[in-house]
Amino acid sequence: MDTCLACRLNNNPDLVPGGRITQTRHWIVEHCVGSFGIGAVVIKTKKHIEKLSECSQAEVKEFAGLLKSVHLAMEEVLKPEHIYVSEWGEETPHVHFLIQPITQVTKKKYQAHGPQLQAKMVQSGEIPDPKQAAQVVKKLRQWFIHNPSHYPSNNKH
Ligand SMILES: [Zn+2]
Repeated sequence: MDTCLACRLNNNPDLVPGGRITQTRHWIVEHCVGSFGIGAVVIKTKKHIEKLSECSQAEVKEFAGLLKSVHLAMEEVLKPEHIYVSEWGEETPHVHFLIQPITQVTKKKYQAHGPQLQAKMVQSGEIPDPKQAAQVVKKLRQWFIHNPSHYPSNNKH
């Protein structure tokens, strides 16, 4: 689907800051292009699917493992205080989850937490600096390379 932003970025990973972080058989992890700060990543399906309920059991199982891996990677690399997980879908109807590492610095900057923090970030319209985002992407990619057992597709069982 040419009109879908998620599909466009899947087909052109160079358009995403730092390029692709990792991928499994059915899913892609890349830096978020929206106003959700440095280190916020998106986990999305490789093919155009509009609802999680339309994913196969194999796809969902792989997602669960990948979601845990992304949490582990963020905890080790970015040491956030919290990790927010969101899915909306109005603007980009392609299954994609936002995984957002939250630090005290971000909370202080916006004087909020939870959905209000996200709302303030969106209202700010601040797009993450591509260079800073690319540095974080590099570190997260390295984490996945050094922790191959966390690639859900590599798990035999
Ligand atoms: Zn799509």
